[in-house]
Amino acid sequence: MSENNAVTHVSNFLRAVIERDMAAGTYASRRWARSPGDAAHHAAGEPDPAKIRTRFPPEPNGYLHIGHAKSICLNFGLARDYDGVCHMRFDDTNPEKESVEYVESIKDSVQWLGFGWDAFGASHLYFASDYFDFMYRAAEYLIEAGHAYIDEQTPDEMRASRGTLTEPGKASPWRDRPREESLALFRAMRDGQHADGAMVLRAKIDMASPNINLRDPAIYRIKRAHHHNTGDTWCIYPMYTYAHPLEDALEGITHSICTLEFEDQRPFYDWVLERLAEGGLLAHPLPKQYEFARLNLTYVVTSKRKLMQLVTEGHVSGWDDPRMPTLVGLRRRGYTPEAIQLFAERIGVSKADSWIDYATLEGALRDDLDGRAARAMVVLDPLKLKLSNWDALFAGRETETCSAPVNPHHPELGQRSFMLSREVWIEREDFMEVAPKGYHRLFPGNRTRLKYGYVIECTGCEKDADGRITAVLATLVPDTKSGTPGADSVKVKGVITWVGAMDGVAAEIRLYDRLFTEAHPDAGGRDFLTVMNADSVKSVQAIVEPGLAAAAPDDRFQFERHGYFVADRKDSAPGRPVFNRAVTLKDSWSR
Ligand code: ATP
Ligand code: MG
Repeated sequence: MSENNAVTHVSNFLRAVIERDMAAGTYASRRWARSPGDAAHHAAGEPDPAKIRTRFPPEPNGYLHIGHAKSICLNFGLARDYDGVCHMRFDDTNPEKESVEYVESIKDSVQWLGFGWDAFGASHLYFASDYFDFMYRAAEYLIEAGHAYIDEQTPDEMRASRGTLTEPGKASPWRDRPREESLALFRAMRDGQHADGAMVLRAKIDMASPNINLRDPAIYRIKRAHHHNTGDTWCIYPMYTYAHPLEDALEGITHSICTLEFEDQRPFYDWVLERLAEGGLLAHPLPKQYEFARLNLTYVVTSKRKLMQLVTEGHVSGWDDPRMPTLVGLRRRGYTPEAIQLFAERIGVSKADSWIDYATLEGALRDDLDGRAARAMVVLDPLKLKLSNWDALFAGRETETCSAPVNPHHPELGQRSFMLSREVWIEREDFMEVAPKGYHRLFPGNRTRLKYGYVIECTGCEKDADGRITAVLATLVPDTKSGTPGADSVKVKGVITWVGAMDGVAAEIRLYDRLFTEAHPDAGGRDFLTVMNADSVKSVQAIVEPGLAAAAPDDRFQFERHGYFVADRKDSAPGRPVFNRAVTLKDSWSR
């Protein structure tokens, strides 16, 4: 990344909270026993060498997308900047839909983005399902302390008695049953003696609370489902809102950062942790939850369910289709980890929901690649150009070597070279038989420069029987080679890109456009499939500069005038390159 794009950390409300906590020493006394655990476990440990602990807690039920990247950059970035640790935690407490394939891809994507979970001599990779024993024990404690009860109402009855925003809820007839009875039933639930859905364990808080989340939320349910980590050990599973604060506490998390929709859950988060601290299962200081606005990006859907639908219904070629907003898709499209980090810094962190323009993401990629991508010339829509005075000028020679900088911002990267010859490939759009005013490329009688080569003068064209142009004819103007003395004595207004017919290499190039035609594809409950862009990918057979034949997968280039491209990591091979357009150039080509 060039210096002026270096990531600079703009302060935000989370940084302010952390700095305040550090100044106040809020978390200075914590102990950490080198693995997650309850109060007794950590009490036996050392003072925590990590100043703060954050976590990135995906559910392994899909691939990560650009929205997750915001959360990753935030959580891992804060830990890095404040001498802390960010835990990589798989929130796998829901036995359905979770799989090892997703676990592996998520780990890969986080590392690809440039983050890791090794810190202070240990790995901080955790699975929430490893905490099921503690979660169960904590639930028994809540029952024994009179803070939870087994409710045998049907789901419909429970819903009906929950009340509304304006009306308080009604107490369940089971709310005041003896603790021993709830405890016995809870154990029977665990032992598989009751059917799925027959009863639930509920926290006993306040049925009249203005916050509906505090009206005795369910904390454990019966669900006979195989779990990818714990197999068939359990037939009861904790609810997410109960499991999450416990996971944070066991891991000694200090700042638990989540998206805004969890704001109303914060009182319950605190309630559970406080009750368990009263019981001695957890110790102060407890983790605190903070909410930030999720990323909403125009022309993109980020719900995992919708992304899954695009894949399973075959609207895209897979999770890593270059049009997908998944991290594997963006990577294959040509995005760099640095560009995504730059994007995350630029959009910042706030507490107000908003939409970010897709162009902001594209801008970050251009700014990252401009400084470092090698340049190359390619012709996407090839038309032959014949230089009719070649033999008169270069008697007996077939080629004339031309060269150009690998990257004009970095002369130290040297030059690349390619061959001018009797015939070269140019873009079909660079010739017009009758040119409109302001067109400075090829038309009969006009002079233009072949970039890094010579000035040429157009003399006409050849056509087939249908009148389609098959070749452009021109003469080369002597002593005008770029970089030679006097080359500029012949003034021209146009410059065109080209590839030599002798050394050009055939390549497949995939031109991508947005997957949706509407900025807010799923706004207002619209079926996002109805606004898919029918022309979101086009494959063309192009001719590319010879050096590109050796491109390795993931190599990125600026194809002059056409944009930034990457050698496809799946389909490209040396000698048979395939390039994806990552993003167009900012200024479109017109002269
Ligand atoms: P989905 O609702 O599509 O299933 P999710 O939020 O449930 O996504 P998780 O795996 O639970 O996905 O998310 C892991 C973390 O990533 C969470 O902490 C969540 O806050 C964060 N995250 C998910 N989507 C976004 C987003 N669009 N912007 C910012 N953070 C996000
Ligand atoms: Mg979720």
